[in-house]
Amino acid sequence: MKWARAFLLLLCLPLLPACSTVDPVTGKSVNNMYLIQDDIQIGREVMADAVVTMRKDGVAINRDAAQVAKLRTMVQRITSVSHLPDLPYEVTLFETNIVNAFAAPGGQVGVFTGLYHPEMGLVKDDDELAAVIGHEIAHVTCRHTTESLTKQMPLQWVMLGASIYAEAKGKENLALGLGVGFLAYQGLLLPKFSRADEAEADAVGLMYMAKAGYDPNAAIRIWERAASRGNDSRLTAMFSSHPTDANRAKALKKMLPQAMEEYERARLRYSN
Ligand SMILES: [Zn+2]
Repeated sequence: MKWARAFLLLLCLPLLPACSTVDPVTGKSVNNMYLIQDDIQIGREVMADAVVTMRKDGVAINRDAAQVAKLRTMVQRITSVSHLPDLPYEVTLFETNIVNAFAAPGGQVGVFTGLYHPEMGLVKDDDELAAVIGHEIAHVTCRHTTESLTKQMPLQWVMLGASIYAEAKGKENLALGLGVGFLAYQGLLLPKFSRADEAEADAVGLMYMAKAGYDPNAAIRIWERAASRGNDSRLTAMFSSHPTDANRAKALKKMLPQAMEEYERARLRYSN
């Protein structure tokens, strides 16, 4: 029934004028038709759908209690220094070999255990994990999903729904593996972030992790590692769809001195 509501929204929205809102991160005026409450609602629905779909595919959700607790603490530390500390942040851990993490709007963060798999994973320590989480949280606080939905209306809305995922999986033989299936699903549900959005999430996320007391050098390490791996098919959306991981590392290096200042300040706070 919730998708029926989405369709109603779809019918109504083109009649509304695009509304200008203030971006919580930049303070600049941006086009976003959605209220922050919509971000929260959409994010919850997307995550609930992801959980149902993945469970059907046999993926365990939040099974590793210690890891979930660690992720929650990390999300709490990072969001508390973010531009939107009061969103209802939630992190969900999917036990599968996908090397990725994702953010749905309104505070929903998903992490796949493949992200820190000892051999295949990309993340080797807590600072590196915090770099990924910081990046995802930045997508949330910058409201990239609803900004993008505002631009791409209404096609994305038409494609919403897990039934579309199931259909695509069957018809186009996308069921080659869970990773591929999930990517199709994610692509249908959430708009792809633009390169500019990715660059913004890198920059904003770097400052978040540093302010939260995680070593910002870790962000550069993971992008350099991603670049050195080249076209590894296991490095999905976040780590392979970006044209030049090496360039991202370079851009982050430029911001490092400022991030290090924040990190040193935060370290004093956390050591007390
Ligand atoms: Zn991103």
